[in-house]
Amino acid sequence: MNILSQLSNQCVRCGICLPYCPTYQQTLHEAESPRGRIALMKALAEQQLSPESSALVHLDHCLQCQACESVCPLQVEYGKLLHLSKAKWQSPSFSLGLTLLSQSMTVLNVIARVLYLYQQLGLQRILRPLLYFDSLKTLDHYLLPMTLNNLASHYPAKQTPVKGKVNLFIGCLSQWFDLETILSCILLYQYFGFDVFIPKQQRCCGALHYHHKQSFQAEKLAKHNQNIFDSTIPTVSINTGCTAYLAQTEQLTIHNSYDHILSLLKPLVNASELSFSALNATVMVHEPCSLRYQLKQATVVYDLLKFIPDLEINALPNNQYCCGGAGSYMLQYVEMSKQLRNDKIATILKLKPDYVVTTNIGCYLHLSAGLPVALASVMVSPLTLLAQQLISPTTEKF
Ligand code: SF4
Ligand code: SF4
Repeated sequence: MNILSQLSNQCVRCGICLPYCPTYQQTLHEAESPRGRIALMKALAEQQLSPESSALVHLDHCLQCQACESVCPLQVEYGKLLHLSKAKWQSPSFSLGLTLLSQSMTVLNVIARVLYLYQQLGLQRILRPLLYFDSLKTLDHYLLPMTLNNLASHYPAKQTPVKGKVNLFIGCLSQWFDLETILSCILLYQYFGFDVFIPKQQRCCGALHYHHKQSFQAEKLAKHNQNIFDSTIPTVSINTGCTAYLAQTEQLTIHNSYDHILSLLKPLVNASELSFSALNATVMVHEPCSLRYQLKQATVVYDLLKFIPDLEINALPNNQYCCGGAGSYMLQYVEMSKQLRNDKIATILKLKPDYVVTTNIGCYLHLSAGLPVALASVMVSPLTLLAQQLISPTTEKF
C-alpha cells in the first residue's frame, strides 16, 4: 500500500471535522469538506480517479488552514496527505507571483518603489475605474497604501547593559504594507536591552512556493535564508504565516516573535523595569490559522495585551474559521475568500471595536482591504499597541 493510501485510510469518515471546515460551512458540499477531500485523495492514490479529473478542483479550494487536523480525534495527517497528493495533479498556476516573491530584496524594492509612485502620483485612483481584467481588479483591491522601506540593518539596544541580540525575519510584504509592526517589534526589543539585526539579503520564507508544488524553490529560499542569518543569535519572525512554515523546515531555527517577546516581557514588568500606560479602548483578537492551528499559540496574543491596563480584550467571534486570506488564496479564489471575510467584516462593523489585532500580514491585508477606508486603521498588530503604550525610562520612541 502506498503512503497516500495509508494516510487517507487513517480517516474513518466520522465527520467530526466538518463543522470546523470553512469551505464546508459555506457550501455544505461534501467534496468541499476534509472528509470529502480525503476520499478524493484516496481515489487518486488508488487510481480510481484520473489526475485530470475535474473533481480535483475541490482539493484546490482547500484553504490549508489545518482546522480539520487540529480537531480530528484520530489525528489524520491531512496537511501531509494534501501536500503529497498535490504532486499528482495539475493545480492552477500562480507562477508569476511566486517568481516575483523569489527575487532578492533589491529587486522587490524596485518594484515597490514603482508601485509607491503609482499610488503617490494618484494613478491608482485614476486608473482604478478603467481596470478591465478581474485579476487586475483583485490585485488593485489589495494594493493598500504603501510606505517606503528605509530599514537599517542594525538597531542598537536602548538600555544598558545590553541583554542580548536578535535577528528579525521580516518576510516580504510587511515592510511596504505594515512597516509599523516591524518598527514596533524593533522598539520593544530595543527597550528590552536587545540589539536588533535585520539582514538585508533575507528573502521570502518560501511558504507559498511550498504550497504551490515548488518545493525545490522553497528549499532554495530556505537555504539562502539559513546562510545569511547568524545562527548564534536567535532569529524571530514577525508574521505567523512565515513562522509556522519556517518552524516546519529544518533549515532555519525560528522563534515566534510574539511568544519570544512575551517571555522577555514578563520578568521586566515583574521587576518594574518596564510598564505600559493605560488604554481605555476595546480590542478584538483575530487569530490567524497559522497562530491558532499551526503554531498552537493563540493565547500568546491575549497574554501580551493584558500588560496594557484598562484595555478590554475580546476574541473576534468565530475565530475557528479562516478569514479567507490564506496566502495566495485571496488572489486565486476571490469569491470564496470574500465570502469568508464578509462574516468577519460584518462582525467588526457590528461590534465596532477600537482595534482588531492580527499577527499575520496576509490576514492584515485581506481584512484591511475589506473594511471601509475610514475604518482600515483599526487593524493593527498587538506589537503596535504594546509599543504605543510602552512607558520607558528614556523618552525617545520612533
Ligand atoms: S479527518 Fe478525522 S475527524 Fe474528519 S472525518 Fe476523517 S477521521 Fe473523522
Ligand atoms: S485545511 Fe481547512 S479548508 Fe482544508 S479541509 Fe481542512 S478545515 Fe477545510
